[in-house]
Amino acid sequence: CGIVAYVGHQNASEIIIKGLKRLEYRGYDSAGIALMNDGLKVYKKQGKVSELEGFLKDKDTKSTIGMGHTRWATHGAPNDENAHPHYSQSGDLAIIHNGIIENYSSLKTDLENKGYKFKSETDSEVFINFIEDIYKNNEGTLEEAVRLALTKVVGAYAIVIMSTNHPNQLIAARKGSPLVIGVGKDEFFLASDATPIVEYTNEVIYVNDYEIALIKDNKISIRDTKDVKMTPYIQKVDMEL
Ligand code: GLU
Repeated sequence: CGIVAYVGHQNASEIIIKGLKRLEYRGYDSAGIALMNDGLKVYKKQGKVSELEGFLKDKDTKSTIGMGHTRWATHGAPNDENAHPHYSQSGDLAIIHNGIIENYSSLKTDLENKGYKFKSETDSEVFINFIEDIYKNNEGTLEEAVRLALTKVVGAYAIVIMSTNHPNQLIAARKGSPLVIGVGKDEFFLASDATPIVEYTNEVIYVNDYEIALIKDNKISIRDTKDVKMTPYIQKVDMEL
């Protein structure tokens, strides 16, 4: 239901937890976070963001990149396992997803026939394994695999993807669910709406449907699902908290 992600030079987990709290008004049943700290680490809990925050207290959460999610369950009960982020089978990729993948059941059957096993009941775990399967079977980049996957999924999504093998990059995309990117000085903030972003920067990019953003090496590039390069349109937001 709510998405917050960060890459830059600040402590990602603090920005993400604070941002998820700002999105609490959207409603949710569980919360989770992924951070890059000696590999891609995922922590998730049913219940309030404050419970996730408590759970993180004794963990080493030092990371300057990460992504967090509040879930409003559509596929699978609200519990720890179904909470986001979800790993891919290899453990290389993790996803946070808002929305619904309508053809997840047929994608899941295909993946199960190829030997994929699922830990959750969510459409979102199917989504990240579908991307992983395309990535493994193509020569191209991860961004290209995401793009190909998006041409085949039916439904609504705002997603952010992290990869152990690409520890300094975020890939984000949307169709039907909102996604805003805040552009700071050598840092980027992603969120479902501008409320978690405006205390850091007033320069934002509203991602359009069928667009995929790659944030890497302090730069953002946006392509659409037809692989056409877009020019990011940076707008000024004026919002008081
Ligand atoms: N369909 C996904 C799930 O049930 C995402 C729900 C959401 O938007 O929070 O886990």
